[in-house]
Amino acid sequence: AAPLTAEDYQRVVDEAYAKFKDVKDGANADYIPILATVPSEMFGIALVTRDGKIYAAGEQKYEFSIQSVSKPFTASLIMAEQGPKVLREKIGVEPTGLPFNSKLAMELYESRSVNPLVNAGAIAAVSLVQADSEQARWNKVLGNIEAYAGRKLQVLEEVYDSEYETAWSNRGIANLLFNYGRLYSDPEEALRVYTRQCSIGINTRDLGIMGATLANEGVNPFTGKRVLDAEDVPELLAIMATAGFYDESGEWMYRSGLPAKTGVGGGIVAVVPGKFAIATFSPPLNEAGNSVRGLKAINYISGELGVGLFGPN
Ligand code: GLN
Repeated sequence: AAPLTAEDYQRVVDEAYAKFKDVKDGANADYIPILATVPSEMFGIALVTRDGKIYAAGEQKYEFSIQSVSKPFTASLIMAEQGPKVLREKIGVEPTGLPFNSKLAMELYESRSVNPLVNAGAIAAVSLVQADSEQARWNKVLGNIEAYAGRKLQVLEEVYDSEYETAWSNRGIANLLFNYGRLYSDPEEALRVYTRQCSIGINTRDLGIMGATLANEGVNPFTGKRVLDAEDVPELLAIMATAGFYDESGEWMYRSGLPAKTGVGGGIVAVVPGKFAIATFSPPLNEAGNSVRGLKAINYISGELGVGLFGPN
């Protein structure tokens, strides 16, 4: 096949936007009350290449909460800081096949492991970041996500408040982790740092750049800064491939053939290793908590460009 051109990229991004912008399926997350108030019609796509070209359509400026899309990036921080072995041994890399907020996943910890992309593993991941205070730990978590995005980011304080006030389920998970010896800081502190991490505001383009950094073997194509060793990137992408869509990961891989991560704020980032990333933002979610327009758009783009890892689909 002929190499993909700038025109190809822009065309498929525009087509995906036009095809799916009027899809009305799904609903905003509302278990975090403020997320229900985000305008549902917003829809953005940003395809960012490893050499820093951006092909965009739709909403690019609105700052939505990163939510679970933060999880692979903090897993990356653990890899960068302590090596992939620590991530594998202290958290694990097994898909749970369960919803993101599963308490049942905790039982799996007794017999094997989970992974850093579901809440249990992600709360454990923040607690594992090396720091001697909560503030220092938070600074590292935020600094790492900023390095991926290539700019300073802010916590959306009203999202943080809304989520922390209603975080009974995640508090339960943090306490159970602690009970099982799988949490490496005070549980309430881990819950706060995790919830702050999920409340970081990013736009569609930021998310595309974060993904492009993974597509570019761990170097941010805009700042030139290395965030993760090139040799650790495939392992992170492998975790995204098997667990990025929670209990819909198999269906996702079957359709798109790409490692990706979703969040209940409506963001998704998918990575074509060595080439580019596709980020989408659209708040309405399906039953598994994955953005409906976003997943359709990425599947379409992956199919049209023939970049699924297992062959054209
Ligand atoms: N902060 C959210 C939670 O813990 C993240 C969930 C998600 O995006 N899937 O419930």
